[in-house]
Amino acid sequence: MLAYSYIGKGDFRLVEKPKPVVVDTRDAIVRVTLGSICTSDLHIKHGSVPRAVPGITVGHEMVGIVEEVGSDVVSVKRGDRVAVNVETFCGKCFFCRHGYVNNCTDPDGGWALGCRIDGGQAEYVRVPYADNCLTRIPGGVSDEQALFVGDILATGFWAVRISEICEDDTVLIIGAGPTGICSLLCAMLKNPKRIIVCEKSEERIDFVRRHYPDVLVTKPEDCKSFVAANSDNGGADVVLEVAGGDDTFRLAWDCARPNAIVTVVALYDKPQILPLPDMYGKNLVFKTGGVDGCDCEEILRLIKEGRIDTTPLITHRMALRNIEEGYRIFENKLDGVIKVAVDCAS
Ligand SMILES: [Zn+2]
Ligand SMILES: [Zn+2]
Repeated sequence: MLAYSYIGKGDFRLVEKPKPVVVDTRDAIVRVTLGSICTSDLHIKHGSVPRAVPGITVGHEMVGIVEEVGSDVVSVKRGDRVAVNVETFCGKCFFCRHGYVNNCTDPDGGWALGCRIDGGQAEYVRVPYADNCLTRIPGGVSDEQALFVGDILATGFWAVRISEICEDDTVLIIGAGPTGICSLLCAMLKNPKRIIVCEKSEERIDFVRRHYPDVLVTKPEDCKSFVAANSDNGGADVVLEVAGGDDTFRLAWDCARPNAIVTVVALYDKPQILPLPDMYGKNLVFKTGGVDGCDCEEILRLIKEGRIDTTPLITHRMALRNIEEGYRIFENKLDGVIKVAVDCAS
C-alpha cells in the first residue's frame, strides 16, 4: 500500500509498505477513506518533534472503515465507519482514569499515531486500543464532517472545556488557523458575551468575517487596545493562545485581565519567556497544551445536531498519490489554504 513516510529531517516520501496487520488483541485495522495534513506533521518534518521515529508513516487525522479487529475489541466491528483519535490510550493507568489521556503511560499511549507508530497518510492504519481510540460516526455525518473530530476539533473542544468560559466573558482567541477556528467553533457553544479573534493574515481574517460575522476581529498590533476597548474589565476574561508565533505568548497574557485564564493550545518551535516580575499582581491562571482527546463521541453528537460544522475548513482536496502537492500548498500557506483533505482510497 502507499504510505507517506518520515525518512529524516526535511524528508517525507511516498513509499510502498505492507498493509498493517493486527499485532495485539486490542488493535483494529482501519481502511483510511479520508485523511488530512496537520501542522504537527510539519513539526515532524522540520525536526522539532524529537520523539518522532524515522521511517514511520505520518498522519494522525483521519476517518475510515474498520477492516479487521483483534479478538478483545468490543466497541467496533468490521464495516463500521469510524473517526480515529490522535491519541491512543490504555484507559486504565492513573492519567487515563482521570481523563488525562495525553499522558497515558502505556508505550503506545498519548500522541503515538503518525509520530512513534505508523499513522494514517496511507491506505490502511493499525490503531492500538481500538475500543478507546475509534469512535463510530453516526449515520448522516459525512467523512468530511467527521474528519477533524480526532485531532484539531478535539483540541479546540478540550481547550474550551478547560478554559471555564462563562456567558459574561470576553474570550480572546489568538490565531485563526485550523485549530484556532476549531477553538472558535467550540467557544461559540458556550455563548460568551463576546469573542475576539486576533489574526495577522488578511485571507484568514476574511474567512472569519465571512463565516462568523458576530465575531470581532483584530490584528496583533492593535490587539491589546482593541481588547481593552471591547471588554468589561480592561482585558479578556479568557485567552486561548492558538497561534504559536514569535510574540503571541506575550500577547496572550498581556491582553488578559487580572485573574483571567490563559490557555496555551499552541505548540511552539522555540522556548517562551514567562516574565513573572512583569505580571506580578495580575494573578493569572495558565493552562498548557496538549489535548486530552477523549470527547470524540460528544463532538460527533454536536456535529450530527448541526451545532459544529468544520467543513468550510477543507479548502483543498488531493489524492494520496498527490500528497506531496498537498504538503507544498499547506506548508507554504498557498492559495488560501486552511486544510487539505487527502483521499486515501484513491
Ligand atoms: Zn495534529
Ligand atoms: Zn493510560
